[in-house]
Amino acid sequence: MSRPRILVGQLWQESHSFNPTPTGEADFAVERGAALLEANRDAGSALGGILRRGAAAGVAWLPVLAARARPGGPVEETLFAEFLAGFLETARRERPDAVCLELHGALLTTARDDPEGDLLAALRAVVGPDVPVAVALDLHADLTAAVVAAADLPVAYKTNPHADMAETGDRAMALLLERLSGRLTPVRAFAKLPFLTRGNDETDRGPLAQLHARARALIEERPALRDLSITNVNPFVDAPGAGQGVLATADGDRAAAEAAVREIAGALWAQRDAFVETLPSVAAALARALDEPDARPFVLGDQGDRVLAGAPGDSPAILAALLARAPQLRAALPIVDPESVARCRAAGEGAEISLSVGGRLSPGFAPLPVTGRVERLGPGRFVNRGPYMAGVPVELGETAVLAVGACRVLLTSRAGLIQDPEAYESHGIALADLDLLVAKSANHYKLSFAGLATPVTVDSPGLSRFAPQDLPFDKARPLHPLDAVDPLPLEVAVFG
Ligand SMILES: [Zn+2]
Repeated sequence: MSRPRILVGQLWQESHSFNPTPTGEADFAVERGAALLEANRDAGSALGGILRRGAAAGVAWLPVLAARARPGGPVEETLFAEFLAGFLETARRERPDAVCLELHGALLTTARDDPEGDLLAALRAVVGPDVPVAVALDLHADLTAAVVAAADLPVAYKTNPHADMAETGDRAMALLLERLSGRLTPVRAFAKLPFLTRGNDETDRGPLAQLHARARALIEERPALRDLSITNVNPFVDAPGAGQGVLATADGDRAAAEAAVREIAGALWAQRDAFVETLPSVAAALARALDEPDARPFVLGDQGDRVLAGAPGDSPAILAALLARAPQLRAALPIVDPESVARCRAAGEGAEISLSVGGRLSPGFAPLPVTGRVERLGPGRFVNRGPYMAGVPVELGETAVLAVGACRVLLTSRAGLIQDPEAYESHGIALADLDLLVAKSANHYKLSFAGLATPVTVDSPGLSRFAPQDLPFDKARPLHPLDAVDPLPLEVAVFG
């Protein structure tokens, strides 16, 4: 095949089952057709990696759509159905030689528990059994048998914080090209483990560092093994069978794939209670910021209200603690609250106003009464500096910076990914003028604030706290540690 025609696209959203606000059309950035290629060819995403590898190989693209939304509530089913129809229509019309997609892997809709499995199964039905399908996935995917059955080459990121997104797309595309040239016959072995991580799940330390080191050693030892992916599901996915995934892809050697999965999955299960993080309280982190002026600015990762894990972003908890315990700190923190933004806009820049902020979206919070001065109104648009999500634009909707004593509250109309210095700098809040700021992330913000601030992830309340006992899990049961699932009958499914 001299110039293979490859259907390409992206659908990226990580869903939080218990966020009451569905993710809709306004939350997605979408490019279709040729605009997809233009907009993503330099992107740090898996799609960027796919496009660069494919371009170097001289493939002919059949671009469908690229759609990205920040993590949040499940996606509106009607919107997903439109995306699905777009992929199927192009596949039917163009009869591609291969398919290469970037999917998150933990997307839910308001009506489906495994939309990505449904999408891949439907695509497979259209293209038939012989057209290779590769998929690059997030490490926090809830990988399902439907995905592994339908895709010849599913591969996930290997790092958390995610430093290998583009590399994962590159690998998926490289394997697909090998498959197209007849040099690779992919077989997959896959196992699922019914537990959720509760922190301590970064890949450069703790149990995952050991497991990934062993996975790399296995690939060195057995040349038939081409990829070993360990997926640590976003721990706020309540779907049947939700849990950790272990997936091995081998060139024709089913036994090697199965043995690798048995070993890694067994070790992962044995370590299930090591995935627990003991984080400092908000009070302890504020005390540290008061006691260690040389280490300022501090950047607190708001574990309980991580927009990056799909939480609403409206927690007033850190603001309340700050005003009570450390009002002298020059601080900045974001709160999603469209009502309060509207109040500030009505009052105008420079006005003194009293209002209640945050606590309107997450169950368990209440709005916090404050008095402050409207310092600045803005359109809430910026571009991440990275390295995490470098170059990715963020839309916070209309914003207002409210100065409450020494603290600046960045009120936003929409939940946005706030784990990058530019979220503040773009609103006239300079890091150099701060003692403390807040990121809506527990891990990834450390990449973007490296060398700029002292990171401390805090045990704050909210929908993304690692406390599965406090969340109404239902479909995912039985699930360790909520249920007794020991001993585990380890089932390894083999495909291809
Ligand atoms: Zn992730």
